[in-house]
Amino acid sequence: MTGVEELRRRRAKEAMRIRTALNRQRGEQRANTKGGEGTVAFVEERKCIGCDQCTIVCDDNAIDLYHVDVISPLMSVESNRKAKIVRDDCTGCRLCVLSCPTDAIAMIDR
Ligand code: SF4
Ligand code: SF4
Repeated sequence: MTGVEELRRRRAKEAMRIRTALNRQRGEQRANTKGGEGTVAFVEERKCIGCDQCTIVCDDNAIDLYHVDVISPLMSVESNRKAKIVRDDCTGCRLCVLSCPTDAIAMIDR
């Protein structure tokens, strides 16, 4: 029978495997995402789940959250939050793109 120590060891090994894979993906994403002064972040509203991650990482206060009505009869919440970029304050640093769990943010030409 598998003991507790063995399970802990397997769990730690799996956590390391997942962390390594995610870091590799993030590095590739960073390398493939354009940024800089000539670019500005753009949020695809449909993909945004209002998780607040992008506002936490944005050092330039260039992201606001606003409320939208939820029209699905299957959900009991009345509103959901969405992120919106304040274009003039965005420096094109790309941090929000890397933080978004749903890939809702892209960098576009300014
Ligand atoms: S690209 Fe940088 S400055 Fe612009 S909204 Fe994202 S985190 Fe903020
Ligand atoms: S991180 Fe992505 S999903 Fe979360 S609030 Fe920002 S844009 Fe929306």
